[in-house]
Amino acid sequence: METLVVVGAGPKALAVAAKAHVLRALGLSAPRVVVVEAQAVGGNWLPSGGWTDGQHRLGTSPEKDIGFPYRSTWARGHNRAINQAMTAYSWTSFLVEHGTYAEWIDRGRPSPQHHVWAKYLQWVAREIDLELVLGTVSAIAAAADGWLVTAVDADGVPTQIDADALMMTGPGRSAKALAKHPKVLSIAEFWDLAGKRRLPVSSRVAVIGGGETAGSALDELVRHGMLSISVISPMATLYTRGESYFENSLFSDAVKWTALSMAERRDVIRRTDRGVFSVRVQESLLGDNRVHHMQGRVVRLVDQGEGVALTLRNELRPDQVHAFDLVIDATGGQPLWFLDLFDANASDLLELAVGGELTTARIEASIDYDLAVSGLDTKLFLPNLAALAQGPGFPNLSCLGELSDRVLRSMTATPGRRPSEVAPARMAPGG
Ligand SMILES: Cc1cc2nc3c(=O)[nH]c(=O)nc-3n(C[C@H](O)[C@H](O)[C@H](O)COP(=O)(O)OP(=O)(O)OC[C@H]3O[C@@H](n4cnc5c(N)ncnc54)[C@H](O)[C@@H]3O)c2cc1C
Repeated sequence: METLVVVGAGPKALAVAAKAHVLRALGLSAPRVVVVEAQAVGGNWLPSGGWTDGQHRLGTSPEKDIGFPYRSTWARGHNRAINQAMTAYSWTSFLVEHGTYAEWIDRGRPSPQHHVWAKYLQWVAREIDLELVLGTVSAIAAAADGWLVTAVDADGVPTQIDADALMMTGPGRSAKALAKHPKVLSIAEFWDLAGKRRLPVSSRVAVIGGGETAGSALDELVRHGMLSISVISPMATLYTRGESYFENSLFSDAVKWTALSMAERRDVIRRTDRGVFSVRVQESLLGDNRVHHMQGRVVRLVDQGEGVALTLRNELRPDQVHAFDLVIDATGGQPLWFLDLFDANASDLLELAVGGELTTARIEASIDYDLAVSGLDTKLFLPNLAALAQGPGFPNLSCLGELSDRVLRSMTATPGRRPSEVAPARMAPGG
């Protein structure tokens, strides 16, 4: 049986591990899934992950859970059974198990707080006996027949894991900031201070970024006594994700995606995903006259009195300089964060596969139907970079069931074949 190692125990890892568990339970073949996690299952949805304080709410519906859209196309004759079996790990099953289903319905199906979403993921991990290695992946080497993943535990003890295939998840580190300056906070520092109720008292605050990371930070900032809050992004304004059926269906159903031209795909992503706030975040900002949008890219930061001055650049206008008491870098994750872990051989292999220097555009263009980089002998699944080539739902929570089908099917030569022997999975601590 082949081993798929997943870096990060977030929703994508749980989606793949749960589907593999279900396939095995139905007597179908599936790889062994080993998940390596630096903190805890669902770590990035907890305050310790540095992306949230855990109190803010999911932007999407929790029913877009690890099995959504429950429309498996994995193995003819088995799909119905797979879909039914996956519902055992759905958001609603989690609520039923905890006796809160009726209350959730009666309260109008509210989006859960991030820490509750982490609890849901931890519950799935327990239910499926997730094979979890607690440790931070510090190196990835190309081996003769796969990848060699090195993880370091909390005591600094390294473990090496052989992987036939590898899947990278998550946005990378949240500790980076535009500049090292006491008045410029990374998103990790922001949540740390907000959680301790120690955000510096400031009259003019700037939040750089227009996506989910900035949205959650703004949702928090409006609860504090700032006099003005400026949201800086290169877009002409702050867009709201429409969340109509027509937009959402492109995220849930990737089938239509490849029929669109590249220009159409970029247009959909620009209008619905990048630099777009959820309806809920927009609603909380609309009524607050302290919140303004400033268009531009920050190209310079200098000290100014007690605060900092930011230079904003727009193509058709002269640069503008604005002063702030506090700046929060909420520009979000780094899509290529995992490349720092790759040794020289692994990077060379990847460069050969994508045909040149490792840029986001080049890797995005190389993502195949199975969400792996095409042209690599050993699978490297990069769902976070699959939006443009395969569908805008793959980097987020919009079609985790479809994501797991695509990844697992490509690791199984003949879907539906019965495995000769299946090793029992085990649950490790932390989840
Ligand atoms: C504040 C915020 C709110 C969001 N809300 C939504 C939403 O409502 N709907 C939506 O669709 N998307 C939302 N997103 C986007 C979200 O990031 C993705 O949808 C989704 O969480 C990504 O899942 P994942 O499994 O890739 O990674 P994550 O859930 O981010 O998990 C990655 C895991 O990797 C671990 N990790 C990191 N580095 C290492 C390492 N070196 N070794 C081992 N483990 C490591 C982390 O501890 C973490 O647990 C939001 C993002 C943010 C920042």
